[in-house]
Amino acid sequence: MLDDLTKMAEPYKIKMVEPLKIRTKEERIRLIKEAGYNPFLLNAEDVYIDLLTDSGTSAMSDNQWAGMMLGDESYAGSKNYIHLVEVVKDIFGYNYVVPTHQGRGAEKVLFPVLVKKGQYVVGNMHFDTTKAHIELSEGIAVNLVTREAEDVGNYHPFKGNFDIEALKSFIEEKGPENIAFILATVTCNSAGGQPVSMENIKEVRKMADKYGLYLFFDAARFAENAYFVKQREKGYENKSIKEIVREMFSYGDGFTMSAKKDALVNIGGLIAIKDDVELFTKVKTMLIPMEGFVTYGGLAGRDMEAMARGLEEVLSEDYLSWRINQVKYLGDKLREAGIPIQYPTGGHAVFIDGKKFLPHVPQEQFPSHTICVELYIEAGIRAVEVGTLLAGRDPVTKKEILPALDFVRLTIPRRVYTNSHMDVVAEAVKRVYARRDSIKGLRFTYEPPILRHFTARLEPVE
Ligand SMILES: *Cc1c(COP(=O)(O)O)cnc(C)c1O
Repeated sequence: MLDDLTKMAEPYKIKMVEPLKIRTKEERIRLIKEAGYNPFLLNAEDVYIDLLTDSGTSAMSDNQWAGMMLGDESYAGSKNYIHLVEVVKDIFGYNYVVPTHQGRGAEKVLFPVLVKKGQYVVGNMHFDTTKAHIELSEGIAVNLVTREAEDVGNYHPFKGNFDIEALKSFIEEKGPENIAFILATVTCNSAGGQPVSMENIKEVRKMADKYGLYLFFDAARFAENAYFVKQREKGYENKSIKEIVREMFSYGDGFTMSAKKDALVNIGGLIAIKDDVELFTKVKTMLIPMEGFVTYGGLAGRDMEAMARGLEEVLSEDYLSWRINQVKYLGDKLREAGIPIQYPTGGHAVFIDGKKFLPHVPQEQFPSHTICVELYIEAGIRAVEVGTLLAGRDPVTKKEILPALDFVRLTIPRRVYTNSHMDVVAEAVKRVYARRDSIKGLRFTYEPPILRHFTARLEPVE
């Protein structure tokens, strides 16, 4: 365990570097205009600090890279698959495991097995590809996150929790036969990377038992969630991260996972099932035509080896402490400057409240997205909007959906940037905030019909 002094810096040293290209402000103004004021359409080389996502952007360790050289690229029965299964069993206590090419591959395979047409999948807050795959399986995605999640400025230790009362009434109102399964997303990405408490997970398990429902996890940030439990929940302060993870997952029946987050790899996913062998047989049957044979599921052997090693590394408390505190470090700097953020900061990102930051920009003119554009112009920082542009239009009325949470997400890749980079980000946000009154919103010049945020083109409103 780290003490005061050793906590002050990264618990690793840098063995390989990737130089950054630095564009001038004039160049950035031109580049963002050419990209239709949409940071997704920028070339990564034109970005100085890339906080678009923490997905697949981690730096692997020397141990993971060494594992890459031990890839067993056999079609069937690769030793890396066998190692991966052993590691998952050891950490999570789940017996049945298959890899997938990434998290959405796991969703695509598992959900049609579980969902019958018109059934509900109830979660704390579904991730966007998760919602899409529920709908592709002809199910209905329902979010029942605690109301504290919307209380952006106020502290609550577990803003990712389920609203247990709402869960109970929803199941009773619709009838358990109309619920496909319960899905707990840890940490709750869409609410700001906010954790779910062990107590809440236990309550959800009770509900699942009472009504005879499956409880699955969307486990992308399982280790970050466990770290928060250790920090914030009574009775867990002396448990190891591994013990906490083991207990958390003992309440579930299985999980889907994007390994591009806490498994510290650039690509990959997993489906794991605790003990339901019939369900696992169905999963394997779907996996083969969709992702690949059971022992590779769309991944190279070397990728499975890196994933197995990443899953073990991420349990390190020294690593997690640095990781979570780096996010907090940035969040604290912004809060000290009076910038409205989701508080406390979550596991993987700082979320700025765009509506409060630019109160004069109507929500239909994308205040959070506008801040992203300004951050690129200010310092070459690429952030991402999680708000009105992402929410899209109501499928029936075609009106803009105006979500309660309208955020700029500053997503911190794992083990990639130092706190000096975080200082640059904080300074850039402060400078944009200082000139906020003169910032105008944006409107479409091209609005794609679906998933519009990825390819939309915009211009400043005059
Ligand atoms: C990233 C993510 C997914 C989807 O995973 P991909 O690997 O991007 O396909 C699903 N759920 C959550 C919570 C995620 O963060």
